[in-house]
Parts: sequence; C-alpha cells; structure tokens
Amino acid sequence: MERSSTTTAPKDAAAVILIRQDTDPNNPEVFWVKRSDKLAFLGGFHAFPGGQIDADDAAVTVQNAPNPETAAMISGAARELFEELGVLVARGGETLTKGQRASLLDDLESHRMSWSALLDHYHLHLDADDFTYVGRWVTPPFNARRFDTWFFLAKCPAKQEPNVIAGELAEGEWLPARDAYARWLRDEVVAVPPTLHALKTLGDGMTPDLVARFLSRKQAHGVPEREITFRPNYFCFPVRTPTRPPATHTCCYLVHTSEELLIFDPGSPYEEEQQALAACVDEMIAAGRQVREIILTHHHPDHIGGVNALKSHLGGNVSVAAHKETAKLLNEIHREVHVDRFIEDNEIIALDGEPPLQLQALHTPGHAPGHLCFHDAQRGVLITGDNVVGFGSVLIDPADGKMRQYLNSLERMRSLPGLSVLFGGHGPAVAAPYKKLDEYISHRLERERNILETVRKGITDPKEIVAQVYTDVHPKALAMAERAVLAHLEKLAEDGLIPPSQISG
Ligand SMILES: [Zn+2]
Repeated sequence: MERSSTTTAPKDAAAVILIRQDTDPNNPEVFWVKRSDKLAFLGGFHAFPGGQIDADDAAVTVQNAPNPETAAMISGAARELFEELGVLVARGGETLTKGQRASLLDDLESHRMSWSALLDHYHLHLDADDFTYVGRWVTPPFNARRFDTWFFLAKCPAKQEPNVIAGELAEGEWLPARDAYARWLRDEVVAVPPTLHALKTLGDGMTPDLVARFLSRKQAHGVPEREITFRPNYFCFPVRTPTRPPATHTCCYLVHTSEELLIFDPGSPYEEEQQALAACVDEMIAAGRQVREIILTHHHPDHIGGVNALKSHLGGNVSVAAHKETAKLLNEIHREVHVDRFIEDNEIIALDGEPPLQLQALHTPGHAPGHLCFHDAQRGVLITGDNVVGFGSVLIDPADGKMRQYLNSLERMRSLPGLSVLFGGHGPAVAAPYKKLDEYISHRLERERNILETVRKGITDPKEIVAQVYTDVHPKALAMAERAVLAHLEKLAEDGLIPPSQISG
C-alpha cells in the first residue's frame, strides 16, 4: 500500500524560555503560559511564548550571532516574546519606561512599524549573548500544522514584568521549574515533550552543564518525538497509516503502569512502522512490564493494520480485545484479524502496578458499530478513538456510520465528569475536552438544520444538498460530504422529520 498523502514540511518557529531575574539557580522560576482554547494548534496546552518566524525577522541585525539563520531565529524569538508578553529583550531598551514599551508594542501590533524598523527607530539592538540556544524540536508528522521550533533561554530584564496579552494566550505565571513539572505529574496540565524536557532540565538546576543537558536528547536536534507523553502513563505513538487525508498517521496508545501495558490500535500495515512500535513495546517489557492486551477501538483498517505483526512479534500469546460488533465486522471483512476477547459496555479494565490505573470501556457507536472509548475517571483521560480526533474531521459513513448513534455517543462522552484531556485516533491530544465536544455536537446539529431546511425546499439529492450546505469544504472532500449527508438524512428519517422515501444514495 502506498502512503495516502505526504506529510507537510514544518515551518520555522522560535520560543523563549524566560527565566526570572535573581531566581534560585537550583530551581529557577520560569514564565509559562496557557495557550488559548481557541487555538487550532495545541489549544489549552501549557507552553512557552513563541510562534512562527516572519519574513521581516531576518532583516534585524543580531550582534554576536554565529550565522544569519540563528540571527533570524533569535529575532523571531525576541519579537514573539515582546508581542505575547510585552517583555523586550533588547539592548538600549534599559531606559525605556513601561509606557514607552507599551507604545512601541502598539506600533508593532498595529503594523505602523515592522519589527526591524522599530528596533532601528528606537536605537535598540538584539544581541545573541542574551539568548542561549537550547535545542530545536520538530512537531511529529501526525499533524498538518508542524513547526521546527528553536528554543532559547533568556533572562527577563530588570524592571520588566511579563503580562499576558489577550489573544493567543489565556494566562501565564512565574513558577519554579520543578513545581511546573510536578503540576504535569499531578495531571493538572497538558504539555508537549519540549516543554516538559525544558522544565525537567531546569528543575535540576542551572549548572554549568545546563545547555548540554538540554541538548542531550536527539529530539532536541530536530528528530521528531515518537513516544509523546501528553500525560504520565499514556504514550501516544503515532504510526503512519493509509488513513483518510489530511491525516497521515493513526495514534497508537500505550497505557502503562510499572507492571502492565495495554496497547490500543496498532494500526500501521507498514513494516518499518510496525518495527518501530515493536521496539518501543520491547523497551517497556524490558523495564519489567507485561503486555496485558492489544485493544481495538473499532474495526477500521487504519486502526488494525499492525495487530497481527505485533501479536506475532510478542510470540502470539497476547490476546486481542474489542467489542463484539468489532469482532463480527473483522471476521466478515478482514478475516486475518481475530478478536480473542469481547469488551462489554461499562467494563472496567484495571492494571496492576504503580500507579494503579483503571479504564472503563464505553460502547460509543456512530462512527463504527463496535466503537469503544476508554475513560480513566481518576486521571481525567478519555481515549476517544475516531469519535473525536485531534486533527482532521470524523466521517460518519453509512452503513457503518450512524449519525443518531454518533450524536448520542458524543452526548455520553460530554456527560462524563472531570475530563481534562482527550486522546483521539489521529492528531495531538485535545486539552479542552468539553469545548471540543460542544463544538462537535453543535457542528453536526447545525449541518442537520441546514440539511433539513434544504430538504424542505424540495432538494433531496445528496449531491445537490452538498452543493447547498457544504459550501465551506474543500472540493476534494465533497464525496465524503455526500456520505455524511446520507447519514444525516437517515437520522432525520429516524427522528420522523422527513419521510424515509426521501433518502436516496
Ligand atoms: Zn475510523
């Protein structure tokens, strides 16, 4: 099988890990921010200020920069820091008052002046010695939005206080690096690997080997992370699959305690991907864990493609568990994948070891008949399979797909208390679960209202309905939209809002 679509090239970005003046070098205070829930990229995540490089960033002269590329990245980092927190790390700016800095920021934000022109005009200059390079991290290829982000350490200048400027960021605060990391360990925040690595590294103190420790992982040199721990004990291991564009990967999850390991959706049919996953599983076994089960959220090919390879790698003596509807479909379609054990609705799967971990299975059909989600009530985690995804959209495609069931499933997921993160079958974790679920529900209901209105005008052909209602989708997605319309029409008929005779397709 061929690659379904190519992954996108990462865009240049820069971020600043801001260190407080006169802080305790054994556990320095850093300024971290919570990204707005509204952001498409890592909304609701805790991170450091930063963003994409502008063309103008390269127009700034950075003294003592080793090369033009580094200069442009430092310039972009300094600009983002100024735009997001109002902190200006520029020489010659020491005498500026708070009011003057605000006025400079206004010049920049209102586009009266470009960043390079602004620095020139006020006789400010950037110096590479104020920005310590501590690595570049590339977003794993499971998201269309990808960044090659350069990280810099910078000291917050005297008499300046970061101030979260409403927009991309929701909040921000100073806190000791070790405390920030502890908050992640306590499941209070969601963060990406470079943020966690920085907090851990700084938490061990600002020792002479600090930069070396930052750069000690290959991921700090642009090698995308494979084992993404958005939350302790939950590895997201994206594997390349022939999935539906724009997605190119399926998220396999490895949920573990000190003693046991569950593997969800080993979906890749490609040998090199299967080997990478097997190597990761082997490492976890070598650390003293036993594979409890391979679990399938549903029967779609991009979620089961690597089941047999993994099972045979593990010597065949590991069972595959799924809902009985999934087992039935796999038996009908993919005769080669066998389900050994059925998982019932509400069943609890408890793992031995530390920390104790319990997942409750929820039968949540709609995207697929046997679809299961898994809820860790204590940790606020919901593994959502393809019911909610971190990237791309969910297709409800009859006959497997049933819109009415799907909406009921979303409502059931929405009713779970205390959710703090969703792990979907594609893309990054979702750090604003209720907002995402509300969006999914209201989006479907809005489509349904528009479709019903169109049908009442006498338009019943799905193709024509798509032309009327799906004016916002890419032409390539129109065939999918037709399938979704069919699913909506079926629901409307079940609800008694249109006669069944109006469904054609
Ligand atoms: Zn699916």
